[in-house]
Amino acid sequence: SEILLEELDHVGPATAQKLNDAGYNSVEAVAVASPSELVATAEIGESTAAKIISAARSAADIGGFETGDFVMQRRMEVGKLHTGCEEFDELMGGGIETQSITEMYGEFGSGKTQIAHQLAVNTQLPKEMGGLDGSVIIIDTENTFRPERIEQMVAGLSQKFEQDFDPAEFLKNIHVARAYNSNHQILLVDAAMEMANKLKNTDKPVRLVIVDSLTAHFRAEYVGRGTLADRQQKLNKHLHDLQRFGDLNNASVIVTNQVMSKPDAFFGDPTRPIGGHILGHTATFRLYIRKSKGDKRIVKLVDSPCLPDGEAVACITTDGLCD
Ligand code: ADP
Ligand code: MG
Repeated sequence: SEILLEELDHVGPATAQKLNDAGYNSVEAVAVASPSELVATAEIGESTAAKIISAARSAADIGGFETGDFVMQRRMEVGKLHTGCEEFDELMGGGIETQSITEMYGEFGSGKTQIAHQLAVNTQLPKEMGGLDGSVIIIDTENTFRPERIEQMVAGLSQKFEQDFDPAEFLKNIHVARAYNSNHQILLVDAAMEMANKLKNTDKPVRLVIVDSLTAHFRAEYVGRGTLADRQQKLNKHLHDLQRFGDLNNASVIVTNQVMSKPDAFFGDPTRPIGGHILGHTATFRLYIRKSKGDKRIVKLVDSPCLPDGEAVACITTDGLCD
């Protein structure tokens, strides 16, 4: 039995409505919010916000500490989404994890959007085929989502699994929104949360959210050093919203980031992901994608919390991602 926001102490019908409108549709969502977020969205005082959060935490049983067995329980629910390329899956310890943010960074044309399309298809497959039996949300900031590409990849899967998948069905489970600027992009995570709540008890709950590109708008809008701290702060909040989305929905979060060439770097790779170290610490898995010969791509896992660094070779073909 789910607890309603209205049932929490200090939450009247008006506040419940405001919280709902702002995308806090469950006790869990309120429990992991920060007081300042609630102050801004629900027009309440700081101390009321703190009391509401504390009430939500006890109701949702989200304390500051959890015992290891509880963490283990949640870890056991972590899904692993197959990429279509075995080497890539092995690199990731079995697939792209749910409840985590995976960042893909690389130059223009390295294949980030292609891999994102493939994951949007694979997520919908049943678990025994490497999927998550779920639907997908895409926040498209560069207008690079292509339904035709999804159709090609579904045809590729039909061949691979020797069964007739219907591309139209796959397209129906992908919810795409264009983000017109960084503020809009941030707000779309709230809309995504609403969508996920709507689909929660259906046979296709949201199991993947893609932000492609995470950084393009931020990069374009915040030029010059003066506004860099402001940009990082917004990006940081955005990533925390996404992490919360992943935790609450047991969903994978994929974000892409285009590298900026750094001509003054004499050693190592002359490219660096933008977003700086904040992005580095927030993304759980970071993948550096680069082009190799022909349709080959090299996927490099960079500082993961529990996996060894390493590389995999994947191919991008008309049928999709493969070995
Ligand atoms: P990024 O998002 O990293 O900028 P993309 O994911 O858009 O890069 O990759 C574009 C590349 O993907 C193309 O240059 C091409 O090599 C490959 N690609 C795109 N569409 C197809 C297709 N239908 N069949 C095969 N390869 C494709
Ligand atoms: Mg792209």
